[in-house]
Amino acid sequence: MADHPRFGPAGVPQMFRQKGAKLVDVPKLLRVEELDAFEYAAVRWGQVPQIKQVDAQALGAEAKKNDVLLSLHGSYFINLLGEKEVVEASKRRLIACAQAAEWMGAYVVVFHPGFYGKNGKSESLKKCVEAVTEVSDALKSMGIEKVKLGPETMGRHSQFGSLDEVLSVCQQVEGTQLVVDWAHLHARTGGGLRSVEDFRKIVVAAEEKLGTDAVREMHCHFSKIEYTYKTGERRHHILDEPGYGPEFENLAEVISEFKMRPVVICETAVQDVDAAKMKKILVEVQHRKNSR
Ligand SMILES: [Zn+2]
Repeated sequence: MADHPRFGPAGVPQMFRQKGAKLVDVPKLLRVEELDAFEYAAVRWGQVPQIKQVDAQALGAEAKKNDVLLSLHGSYFINLLGEKEVVEASKRRLIACAQAAEWMGAYVVVFHPGFYGKNGKSESLKKCVEAVTEVSDALKSMGIEKVKLGPETMGRHSQFGSLDEVLSVCQQVEGTQLVVDWAHLHARTGGGLRSVEDFRKIVVAAEEKLGTDAVREMHCHFSKIEYTYKTGERRHHILDEPGYGPEFENLAEVISEFKMRPVVICETAVQDVDAAKMKKILVEVQHRKNSR
C-alpha cells in the first residue's frame, strides 16, 4: 500500500527491453527515472505461476531496496462469469497469480473479472462476488494474506466492471482492493471524464461505498483512450497524443483535493516516460494549490 502517490509502468518498459535489461534490473532502472511503482505483467499466464519462485523473490528484494512498490496484473484468461469449468479454471489462474504476487511481495493482483455473456447484470454481480470470495478463502487457507484481489473497472460494454459493479464486489468481499482504470471508465461512459467534476464524482461515489481509506489508497491505471459509442474501449494512446481523453491534469486535481496516495500505473506504449510525465503534472498541481 502506498504511503504517498506512486507512479510506474505496466510491464517492463519497451526501452528497458531494447537495452536488454533483465527483470531484476527493472526497479533500479525505474528509480533512475524517479518512478516508484511497477506492475508486473502476468497477463498470459495459465494455471501455474510462470515465474520461478527465486526470480520472483529476487525481483521483490530489488524492489524493496529501491523503494519500488510492486503490483501484479493477472491473466487476461479469466472469466468468473462463464460456465462452471471456465470459472474453476479462472479461479486457478487467479490463485497462481496471487501465489507469484506473494513471492515477489506485490500488494495486489489486478484482474479483469469477465464477460456478462448470457447473464443479466444482477446475476453477473452475484457470480462475481461468489467466485472472488472463493478465491479469497482459498488464498487464506494457503497462508497468502498480504495479497489483495483487485477487480478492475473495464472499458467494453460486454465486460463486467462498471464503477458500481467494482465497488459492489469490493464492498462484499474481504481482502479486495479498489482498482480504477480511468481510461476504461472514460471509454465505457462514451467520453464521460471531461472535467475535474467528472473525476470528483467518481471519487465521491467510491468514498460513499467503501470509505475514505479505500479511496485514498486507490490503485489506478491511466492512459488516453480511443473508444466507440457502440462497444466502448478501442485502444490506448500515449499522453501527448491530441484528440483523446481523459486528461491526467483533472485526476491530479482530485488526487490533491482528496489527499489521495494512489498507485498510478501507466498503460500507454511509453509506460515509463508517461508515468514520469504524470508524476510531474501532479507535483505541479500540488505546488500550485499550496502556493495559493
Ligand atoms: Zn487491466
